[in-house]
Amino acid sequence: MTSTDALSSALGTLYVVATPIGNLDDMSARALKVLADVALIAAEDTRHSARLMQHFGLSTPLAACHEHNERDHGGKFLQRLQAGEDVALISDAGTPLISDPGYHLVRQARAAGVAVVPVPGACALIAALSAAGLPSDRFIFEGFLPAKSVGRRSRLEQVKEEPRTLIFYEAPHRIAECLEDMRSIFGDERPALLARELTKTFETLKGLPLGELSAWVAADSNQQRGECVVLVAGWQAPEGDTAVSAEALRVLDLLLKEMPLKRAAALAAEITGVRKNLLYQLALERQSTK
Ligand code: SAM
Repeated sequence: MTSTDALSSALGTLYVVATPIGNLDDMSARALKVLADVALIAAEDTRHSARLMQHFGLSTPLAACHEHNERDHGGKFLQRLQAGEDVALISDAGTPLISDPGYHLVRQARAAGVAVVPVPGACALIAALSAAGLPSDRFIFEGFLPAKSVGRRSRLEQVKEEPRTLIFYEAPHRIAECLEDMRSIFGDERPALLARELTKTFETLKGLPLGELSAWVAADSNQQRGECVVLVAGWQAPEGDTAVSAEALRVLDLLLKEMPLKRAAALAAEITGVRKNLLYQLALERQSTK
């Protein structure tokens, strides 16, 4: 054992424990064991988690660790860990840190040399993706979009040509307007899926092109209730040789203002990954139409 090992083994362990997102049967045996064994549970909302504890007959003490006190109170949990006690971090539902508090505590613990151990389990975005039938080899998680339409639309514009599957969390009272903004920016035809109330009684997974999905939700107030994840297929370049993204054309136009055509096409190809010959042709066309 090195001296560093000896030091870190004198410290407690911070367990990051996933809890169910609806169906309590999704609580893992390992999560239950860890929650029973640790000295303290840092919980996003102690009253909420008390019900979970009661359901599983657990009596480990709970202490609040939410977004408003996490930075300051992280120190309180850190002291316990540094004194050699094990602490578990849980959120109200699913995996902590995924659109939930915990980041500061985990960061502080790791910086202090405390071992941080994940105890994986439910996570709404992964559950939705696993059943969506959309490409899952590469995806991006955008979390919650801005609540107001101007901010939301501007964020959607930024990811309009993202080729990976897009995953969003959304509040039920905003789902209809959010889908409408997605439809108008990504287009009616873009494949999408709404995953609502996962693992719960009214679980619904509805996969439709955005135009139809938006209309379906707008027409049925029941679809505007509960918790939801929205998945949207990534952008696909239109078929054919001239398929170049707006972003690549923007780069090309900027460079054309600054340097000779051949150099601009070569540099734009390097920056955007689009074929040099294609950009060269486009540059010729753009200059001839000026
Ligand atoms: N940490 C959680 C996780 O691992 O998924 C997410 C917490 S975040 C504060 C809550 C959001 O997650 C909800 O607004 C919803 O978008 C999504 N979510 C959580 N539970 C869900 C469920 N059962 N069905 C669909 N979406 C859910």
